[in-house]
Amino acid sequence: MLSTVAQVKTDVLIIGSGAAGARAAIEAAEFTAAVTLAAKGAPRRSGTTNLAGVHYAAALGHADEDTPWEHFHDTIVEARWLADQELARVMCLHGPKSVHDLERYGLHWYRTPDGTHYKQLPAPGHSFNRGVHYNGKTGKMVQDALIDEVKRHPNIHLLGDVFITQILVDDSGVVGAVGIHLERGELLAISTRSVVIATGGAGMVFKVTDMETGSTGDGIAMAFRAGADLIAPEMHQFFPTAFVWPETLRGVAVNSSQLWKLGLRLYNANDERFMERYYPEQKEHMPRDILSQCIFREITEGRGAEHGGVWLDTRWIEEFETLRRDRPRSYIWPEKLGVNVQRIEVAPTYHFTLGGIRINTEAETTIPGLYAAGEVVGATHGANRLAGNALTECLVFGEIAGRNAALRALSTTARPAPEAMVRAECQRLRGVLPETGTGRRPRAIYDDLRHAMYHNVGIVRDGRRLRAAVRRVAELREEVRSVQLTNTQHYNVEWIWALELDGMLELADLFATGAEMRTESRGAHYREDYPLLDNENWLKNILVRREGKRHVYWTEPVTLPYLSEVKMRYAEPSR
Ligand SMILES: Cc1cc2nc3c(=O)[nH]c(=O)nc-3n(C[C@H](O)[C@H](O)[C@H](O)COP(=O)(O)OP(=O)(O)OC[C@H]3O[C@@H](n4cnc5c(N)ncnc54)[C@H](O)[C@@H]3O)c2cc1C
Repeated sequence: MLSTVAQVKTDVLIIGSGAAGARAAIEAAEFTAAVTLAAKGAPRRSGTTNLAGVHYAAALGHADEDTPWEHFHDTIVEARWLADQELARVMCLHGPKSVHDLERYGLHWYRTPDGTHYKQLPAPGHSFNRGVHYNGKTGKMVQDALIDEVKRHPNIHLLGDVFITQILVDDSGVVGAVGIHLERGELLAISTRSVVIATGGAGMVFKVTDMETGSTGDGIAMAFRAGADLIAPEMHQFFPTAFVWPETLRGVAVNSSQLWKLGLRLYNANDERFMERYYPEQKEHMPRDILSQCIFREITEGRGAEHGGVWLDTRWIEEFETLRRDRPRSYIWPEKLGVNVQRIEVAPTYHFTLGGIRINTEAETTIPGLYAAGEVVGATHGANRLAGNALTECLVFGEIAGRNAALRALSTTARPAPEAMVRAECQRLRGVLPETGTGRRPRAIYDDLRHAMYHNVGIVRDGRRLRAAVRRVAELREEVRSVQLTNTQHYNVEWIWALELDGMLELADLFATGAEMRTESRGAHYREDYPLLDNENWLKNILVRREGKRHVYWTEPVTLPYLSEVKMRYAEPSR
């Protein structure tokens, strides 16, 4: 039983092969490092990148007079001033280059009919048409182009079906990692001095999400266990429009961001176009946090439709027939399941993890040799992310992380992963596979956790429910110790769930505790008991670090080096 521990030696280990990880691998390989790119699933298909619908935000100015400064300005204002201005600045400045990089790797962006310009789309919160795209499958095309390029590099070793469980750190920084080869059922001891975490978000901690099922926040939890700082644990974005019916589609996003301007509308059960009541001028053309909260209020105040959603009405879009062909996942495939796409019942779904690992503009975490990029990182988007900025962040910081990880690896003496640390982690992994667990099976605990988080730490929060969530998470953490599961090492899904649960429970506690600490409402964080935005006391970020078994929280004021005059664009709906 799990007797073998295979040895892997590499200059740079990259965990996650989505947009951020794959881009990091390419860059590290170009700097001549030997790279191991590990993914929990199939490298080309695991992760949320494939699901990205349309928008890749970059101020190319092909549709109008846009500039990176305008992009930066929109990002900060829509982040409700909580974003790290340094990170946002780098993202917006290098966004256009990353569009060209992807084109070099083989992604043929949509262009104007004469072929001279990229076709750039509008989206709420962006002052200009900024979204380059490829039909309704931009994410898939980004992922394919990157993996095709990864495969052109002989010094990148792709390891699919490898679940990395721990990063090994001593006083000098990163010294290795441990993982499980799911297919071979073998433990891996990885010797490396540079690790890039690119494991994406933590949507699976919440019951209703449109993210990929492997989005369990492993990388955030691993970095935290290793002693790295996390930032903004309370910030989680919901996408306003997702199917509520039929059950198989519940939580799947209905593409809408680019369609509001073309006539897409929202109605409640009384057939009232309710956004006219909240924002008579902009109506539905509002950022995600505001739209989600308005929809949620309609539902909770009793104006929801049959299955607990509101109506998304496509009949006002003039060229809907053409547009729907570009968005099959939202408008063609659901028809086969009986959905009337002229009027779709929708509600918000968990969409993006705004908080995460703290990095600087060099993609360095607070641990030497540990880098992070993509959705796993916190503070780039503050309290609300704009459409299209996620992919841009992945590509821009993936490149930076890959370069710096390679430079560190090539200038540091390699040494084997310390045996005692490897042994301790292997014992932890084996310990989860008991012969005689008597408790519930991992899936049941998993479901309870997701239910508790969605209902208590979701779109609308209050102190009582947040404290209830913390208590429930503590009970589940106790319960998970005696979990009962199938005792085999080959593709043992229950074993993986049990290990994921360990991290998810730790993160859930941080998410709920952080949300309880922030006694105001801002962007995606809405407190019924503190409904007002409070710039005087809360223009700051919450941070947390693990010291031994203790969680240490503190706050730091947001610095405003480039945009300093804090002005909100609109009053928020219920304040
Ligand atoms: C429905 C939907 C539509 C979206 N549309 C857009 C859009 O139009 N524009 C936009 O900019 N953004 C969009 N986003 C957001 C965007 O897709 C994501 O933020 C982005 O793709 C995240 O990329 P990533 O590389 O950080 O992580 P991911 O693409 O999620 O990749 C994570 C990788 O880490 C691996 N992994 C995880 N844990 C482990 C582990 N323990 N060991 C080994 N490997 C591990 C996974 O297997 C995977 O390879 C959308 C999101 C959703 C859900």
